[in-house]
Amino acid sequence: MSRVYNFSAGPAVLPEEVLREAAEEMMDYKGSGMSVMEMSHRSKVYDTIIKEAEADLRDLMQIPDNYKVLFLQGGASQQFAMIPMNLMKNKKAAYIVTGQWAKKAWKEAQIYGEAVSVASSEDQTFSYIPDCSDLDIPDDADYVYICENNTIYGTKFKELPNTKGHTLVADVSSCFLSEPVDVTKYGVIYGGVQKNIGPAGVVIVIIREDLITEDTLPGTPTMLKYKTHADAASLYNTPPAYGIYICGKVFKWLKSMGGLSAIRERNEEKAKILYDFLDESSLFRGTVAKEDRSLMNVPFVTGSGELDAKFVAEAKAAGLENLKGHRSVGGMRASIYNAMPKEGVEKLVAFMREFEEKNR
Ligand SMILES: *Cc1c(COP(=O)(O)O)cnc(C)c1O
Repeated sequence: MSRVYNFSAGPAVLPEEVLREAAEEMMDYKGSGMSVMEMSHRSKVYDTIIKEAEADLRDLMQIPDNYKVLFLQGGASQQFAMIPMNLMKNKKAAYIVTGQWAKKAWKEAQIYGEAVSVASSEDQTFSYIPDCSDLDIPDDADYVYICENNTIYGTKFKELPNTKGHTLVADVSSCFLSEPVDVTKYGVIYGGVQKNIGPAGVVIVIIREDLITEDTLPGTPTMLKYKTHADAASLYNTPPAYGIYICGKVFKWLKSMGGLSAIRERNEEKAKILYDFLDESSLFRGTVAKEDRSLMNVPFVTGSGELDAKFVAEAKAAGLENLKGHRSVGGMRASIYNAMPKEGVEKLVAFMREFEEKNR
């Protein structure tokens, strides 16, 4: 067996301990005589799996009792519609447009009501986070929406926007569980798990109870009402059962690593290795405003498309995979999620140093 260092933005690297455990349990999960893939989501065994996953996530994020945790399907993109369908009581919402995912959410919300862009960084290819301390938010806006970590561009809100009392909704797909959060500052926190938590197919929604109502937009399908899933504890229909099981293992792995404060320290240490090199390199440079740099996604360029392509190809041959940047930005992007070991980042930087020497 040989594993590479996988810098993919998503689906992405998972902890080896988790993969090994899942492999061991594949044929016979804890004496049940079957794989978790094969068991009823209504069985006692599975009930323990999903309940433990929720309890461990609550523990990790210190989620207060007045928030529900929902394990849903449809990816983060489904939430772009589900949020306005459930939350747009006044048919108005404020969007902060800091990248393609935020923009897609903003466009989708326009189907359902008046979605106002109150700030944007599109003028400079989304390479920074706009000042959100005093935004012109309509008084009757139902919520303020952000994409907290911009996977494609590599920026992160280091400070939450001043919502002026409005409910904050955040897409945290690519920074989920990368550091401690104060859940009480949000109305909704959600993310697809395939970036930083588990296999594709699960989206986790953490939502304050008062936002879960029958009063959704007319025509909202049963499956797209938060209330449907909250009332049934995520078992209204068959959930993405195997994916939730793997997420549960990752939660336990995070706890064994010391929880989110310890993970933040580890993530800061890893990111610093790469950013420090980018700042001193004579060939490579980072593409975003320093103060807004993400700990999870690190885009960089050489300035030459040809050299970029050469770098990506040679890196792949050296066991450093998926370093090609998003097609809208070009260059390279190293996603260094929770499960990327420090040695992976060190190997990458050593390789970049070598490449720089040879291609001066
Ligand atoms: C990947 C990503 C999405 C889209 O996720 P899907 O699960 O594919 O719908 C949305 N938002 C962010 C921040 C992402 O990184």
